[in-house]
Amino acid sequence: MQRLSDRTEKFTDSVIRRMTRISDEYDAINLSQGFPDFEPPQDITKRLAEVAAEGPHQYAVTWGAPNFREAVAKKYEHFTGMSINPNEEIVITCGSTEAMMATMMSITNPGDKVAVFSPFYENYGADAILSGAEPIYIPLVPPAFTFDKAVLEKAFADGAKALILCNPSNPCGKVFTYDELMTIAELAIKYDAYVVTDEVYEHIVYAPNKHIYMQTLPGMRERTIMCNSLSKTYSITGWRLGYVIANPEIIDRVRKVHDFLTVGAAAPLMEAAVTGLEFDDSYYEELAAHYMHMKNLFIGGLEKLGFKYTDPQGAYYVLLDVSEFGVKDDNSFCEWMIKNVGVAAVPGSSFFKENINNYIRLHFAKQDDTLNEALKRLATLREKANAATDVDWK
Ligand code: GLN
Repeated sequence: MQRLSDRTEKFTDSVIRRMTRISDEYDAINLSQGFPDFEPPQDITKRLAEVAAEGPHQYAVTWGAPNFREAVAKKYEHFTGMSINPNEEIVITCGSTEAMMATMMSITNPGDKVAVFSPFYENYGADAILSGAEPIYIPLVPPAFTFDKAVLEKAFADGAKALILCNPSNPCGKVFTYDELMTIAELAIKYDAYVVTDEVYEHIVYAPNKHIYMQTLPGMRERTIMCNSLSKTYSITGWRLGYVIANPEIIDRVRKVHDFLTVGAAAPLMEAAVTGLEFDDSYYEELAAHYMHMKNLFIGGLEKLGFKYTDPQGAYYVLLDVSEFGVKDDNSFCEWMIKNVGVAAVPGSSFFKENINNYIRLHFAKQDDTLNEALKRLATLREKANAATDVDWK
């Protein structure tokens, strides 16, 4: 048989999605892959039922239905104060996963260097492999997940033509401050680099932290490519609606890549989701308050159990420090935990480039009952982990 592609040879399957499959197999509480177990807003699902009867059911314009692009533009004008041309500066994609891939394919040539903060969302590694870009990792150093300006500058000086910035950050929960974003912006301008942002958690931020859009900083509008999605903001991760906002020249490229990758996002889902994009401020305030409630419940529980964990400033993930159990292999520890404790997490090593494997990632976008049951099960973790013999993770 002919060899399969070299490019995909180094691929592993997504650890996040694998943990979900194992979790389902063992009927565990799945706190690995980040998605809510509560319903999306009723206004959106009611509209979806209407759309089922009314249509559209055929292809929309390949780079996104006009009314959907207009609604995205309006929303961003409201939140950023920028004016955005829905016909030239937006392309709608199948989730922010495609947004990021189409962006990487649009801006990089094989061998180009791209800077990535570590820990990072695992898809960026695959995006780099598929586009042929070589990642240069910039450590976000625990426990505060700060970065060293000199290390970032060196990455740009070594030729990184873009930086991938996940803000608020998955998995570490960091919300970059104005000063940090300014540092990044100044370096990007100095070295003429792009900043590709993943801002899917923009509305899940815990006061007093505040989300600042990189595109709003001086000189950054033209060199920032924002990837985003409706998944987390409207609790519709399965709808796969995402988008890219950038300057017209870049968008022209991303549109073409997107066109040949997927043709377009689902027309009926775009039509129904316009309802969400038109929600007023109270929706986003309630969303943030709901997430604050879930965070307090979950973290309060972990605190009572005496665990060490990261308290996120944004997004909905906690990194639980499992070094007290002598974990040497966090992948097999997570599998063991699914089977023996009944809670699924993602091994932290799938996010860190550095050799760090004392964290597991748990998420708390879940109903109170689910979180309480998960905490009840996690209450047995210490005893079970300490008593475990004949396991391959110690
Ligand atoms: N962003 C979510 C996570 O990190 C879900 C990712 C996915 O599977 N598309 O878990």
